[in-house]
Amino acid sequence: MTALSASPFQSTEFTPSGFGVTVPGPEVDEPIDAEDVERLLNNGKPSLRLPEPLEKAFITDEGPQRLRTMLISGVLVAFMFNWLLVSDWLLVPDQFDLALRLRLFLFTPGILVGVFLLTRLASAAMREWLLIFPATVACAMNAWLCMSSTDPMAGPYLSSLATIAMFSNSVVRMRFAPAAVLDAIIIALFVGAAINMPANLPPILIPAGLLLVCTIVFTLYGCYCQERDDRLNWLLHLRERLLLKNLEDANQELHDASRSDMLTEVANRRHFDEHLAEVWARHQRDGGEVALIMIDVDHFKAYNDRYGHPMGDACLKAVAGALKRRLRGPGDLIARYGGEEFIAVLSGASLQTVHGAAERIRRGIEGLNLLHATSSTHAVVTVSIGVATMNPSAPGATTTRLISAADEALYRAKNGGRNRVVAMGMDA
Ligand code: GH3
Ligand code: MG
Ligand code: MG
Repeated sequence: MTALSASPFQSTEFTPSGFGVTVPGPEVDEPIDAEDVERLLNNGKPSLRLPEPLEKAFITDEGPQRLRTMLISGVLVAFMFNWLLVSDWLLVPDQFDLALRLRLFLFTPGILVGVFLLTRLASAAMREWLLIFPATVACAMNAWLCMSSTDPMAGPYLSSLATIAMFSNSVVRMRFAPAAVLDAIIIALFVGAAINMPANLPPILIPAGLLLVCTIVFTLYGCYCQERDDRLNWLLHLRERLLLKNLEDANQELHDASRSDMLTEVANRRHFDEHLAEVWARHQRDGGEVALIMIDVDHFKAYNDRYGHPMGDACLKAVAGALKRRLRGPGDLIARYGGEEFIAVLSGASLQTVHGAAERIRRGIEGLNLLHATSSTHAVVTVSIGVATMNPSAPGATTTRLISAADEALYRAKNGGRNRVVAMGMDA
């Protein structure tokens, strides 16, 4: 089961975030379940409302693209709507002054302000519903002009409401629900204006009304198909993103597992080897020392014998935890080198600094106060530490020689009585 949780919204280029490869994810508070998406797709065509949190994600994801469409069509209509002045002049000449004032001084600036306000509105769902308002104003203006005119052409001119319905449904591509509400308002305005016409319902109003209803039915159906397809496509993309994320997660898990020690959750030997080679090559190029801290738990066999293997495992975890807490530099790496041995790589640190760090580690592990009654040297778990540094550019310097030096230092720490740090400075 894959869950895609809240991720920054980058809908247009499919590149959901935080998954290694950037893949856009819907911005939702609740995680999205891949099985829900699969079920919806397998159930055939999705309805015009998806179950939460998919619905919220869909609206948010599509928001910027929808806003772009609204802005372009808003600017378009702000200017194009003034072309109707020609029709006003020809069809309702007695109302031309009113038309001029309404179109130039009310509608055009009103639309431009509305377009600006749309960009300020955070809720994508609210934007869809607000579109009803300017479209209703546009229709009301035309209906008012026709209703106020005594010209016989005012009746046929009422069919201009069809243009507004077509514009809203096909150009702005309003969502089906607000489009249906708007279309009902348009029909109501048409009927209201027709009934109140001075000429008292001229017969031309019947074909004009039919034209309006046909336009509304056709374009509203287009609106429905458009939204259904938008939702279907979005779900298909979402499934793709979830599959990709699933794959990336699995890859990441595999990658992590191949590089870390399962018991102590520090790096494993393989990761250590790779890391050391990288650090070594870098310092060979840029100069500076590479340091190793080799840590071995004292009398660990006796610990296992006394407290049992599971307690021994817990002890190793505690030691690894203490190491992680004390070695947190950006280039530091702690690895389990074998059984009860750990090794740390520090990049660019001097022998003195590394010795100081190793001493803090030793004291930290002693400070864990893990009882070790059978230790022949101390009553608690302790570690012996060997430290070595080497300049990769020095003649004869190799990682093998550096590891041997740290091993040698550790051997001396053991022989010196354990629970101590021995450092080997090497020129090569
Ligand atoms: P020294 O102080 O000289 O290091 O003595 P030591 O007993 O710590 O060293 P030795 O090498 O004799 O014993 C290491 C022990 O570590 C033996 C082995 O059973 C134990 N060991 C290795 N890996 C694990 C592990 O994953 N879990 C547990 N519980 N014990 C382990
Ligand atoms: Mg050992
Ligand atoms: Mg040991």
